[in-house]
Amino acid sequence: MAEFDLIARIRQRAASRGDVVLGIGDDCALLAPLPGQLLAVTMDTLNAGVHFPPETAPADIGWKALAVNLSDLAAMGAEPAWCTLSLTLPHADAAFVDGFCDGFLALAAQHGVALVGGDTTRGPLSVSITAHGFVAAGEALRRDGARVGDEVWVSGTLGDAAGALRQWQAGAPMAPVLQARLDRPTPRVALGRALRGIASSAIDISDGLLADLAHVCRASGVGAEIDVDALPASDALRAAFDADVRRTLQATGGDDYELCFTAPIAQRAALEALSRALALPLARVGRVVPGTGVACAALPQGTVGYQHFA
Ligand code: ADP
Ligand code: MG
Repeated sequence: MAEFDLIARIRQRAASRGDVVLGIGDDCALLAPLPGQLLAVTMDTLNAGVHFPPETAPADIGWKALAVNLSDLAAMGAEPAWCTLSLTLPHADAAFVDGFCDGFLALAAQHGVALVGGDTTRGPLSVSITAHGFVAAGEALRRDGARVGDEVWVSGTLGDAAGALRQWQAGAPMAPVLQARLDRPTPRVALGRALRGIASSAIDISDGLLADLAHVCRASGVGAEIDVDALPASDALRAAFDADVRRTLQATGGDDYELCFTAPIAQRAALEALSRALALPLARVGRVVPGTGVACAALPQGTVGYQHFA
């Protein structure tokens, strides 16, 4: 099987949308952005053995590679629209590409995202995706908007994906609920969109709450205090780990792709209503304070999230 056959397999299955003037097949895609909207652009790469266990199912790799990009759009309050896909494969493996497309295109369909181009090359397994979305000027949820007195919120539950990874690293079977969170994260796109005009800043939790919130603090010129006991935990995480390990996973575990955001106290009622409307738990976990850095009393000092090259 040659490169062009692989591309043809992908092209056959990729859905389009009205603002794609020309999709896969030419030297460039031609896209018609909405007037009055800013284009939000993000890129994320997944490498085998670094971002997912090498034996991860191709469909899960496809899902996750798109999910982490849609999560970045969600964290900006942007509406997903288009993506491009760079696939690096050790062999021209049609079965892998078909499985990959199963997961990738299922998530793309959920969010109305069109795959409009890409690149296909040979090398160690790696997937790189660029995603584009729309957000009106002035409405984007940036990292630099947190203000002293705001409260810190997180969506969903924390530590699940890191819990699965810890079980895998220990050679133990992964709890199915935790493994699903690691393999098939849910990008919080509807939440991000709804937080426009409510949240003062937002970030998605890819490297762990403390590490990611520290980026918000740095960009906003503020500090934050986190109440570890307020961090939301799933029943599956509670069942799998004792309280100390669980707290560390919740505060520092990456890969959950929940949103962490800040909002004025006056927005509490709006956020509680939003939580009910989306059927998605939103938890108040701390506050924005003067100073720098993220304080978290119950954890050992210096505990941070995942860093490449660290
Ligand atoms: P070029 O020689 O211009 O780089 P390619 O042969 O790499 O073109 O790609 C041909 C067409 O197929 C282009 O439209 C490109 O965007 C698309 N394409 C290549 N690989 C992928 C992929 N993995 N997913 C989606 N589209 C792809
Ligand atoms: Mg090419």
